[in-house]
Amino acid sequence: MTLARLSAIPLELQYLASKELGPSDLLALSHVSTYWRAFVLSDKRWTEWFASISSWSDETLEQCLTRLNILDKLSKRKAVYLCLRDSCALCGEYAQDIYLPHIKRVCETCLKGEEFTVLQFSAALAKYDLRERDVQHILTLEWRNPSRSSKRSTKLVSESHVKKIAIQNLGSEATLQAHLERKMAEARRTYTARSEDYRKAVSTCAALQETGNLAAAETVVLARTGRKIPKAFPAFPPILLPVRPMDRKVVCFAPRPLVEVGGELLLDVNDSDESEGSGADGSEA
Ligand SMILES: [Zn+2]
Repeated sequence: MTLARLSAIPLELQYLASKELGPSDLLALSHVSTYWRAFVLSDKRWTEWFASISSWSDETLEQCLTRLNILDKLSKRKAVYLCLRDSCALCGEYAQDIYLPHIKRVCETCLKGEEFTVLQFSAALAKYDLRERDVQHILTLEWRNPSRSSKRSTKLVSESHVKKIAIQNLGSEATLQAHLERKMAEARRTYTARSEDYRKAVSTCAALQETGNLAAAETVVLARTGRKIPKAFPAFPPILLPVRPMDRKVVCFAPRPLVEVGGELLLDVNDSDESEGSGADGSEA
């Protein structure tokens, strides 16, 4: 009833009234109807509020998202919501970190769960026998190791996202498991056969060279492919390479607590006084 009356008042007054509302109220209002959703989305203050989010190490959220190349993946409204609600999306306990690949608050304990494993993109594809075209729409984050001088970034992905696609493609987790086992056995067999073939061809070639039969040595080829002996030993199949998960914290953002004062978002001074020490430690992790 009240809302019906609210929509009935002149637009200008609606805007004036909305200026009195902070982000939490606006978020609630946006869930009421498509009209109010559009109204709330058009509020320019989201940009301002978004800009006031920074981590314990004083990196702004915008800088962090730009660094990881996912600025367009998180709406300003959602970012403000995540900043104000510091409870874990899984267990409801206090959660300091926003786990960016899933765009969720996740507490320290839940973050240890398998669901939040972070892998290098190529390693994840190899592990689940997927091609790049299979995962075109997956969220990837570009991470640059600050302790290395190299400017090259590493593409990271949440393992659970990749696994989900692999399961969808094959129908079930059991089918996926069987498929991967078959692929791995096949890769092992092929690799062993290729390596033996290579070794045999190389030693035959060397023996012929020793006897001075250079022409014959030149014509030695790999039995399996009929091709000339390559310079390098056959490459180890990627699907069999051990996969080393990354530190999950590199794709997390820990916002400093903000409080709503009227229509403003301000740093929670009380909170930062108490946890200044632990905050500094956290930012180094
Ligand atoms: Zn939790």
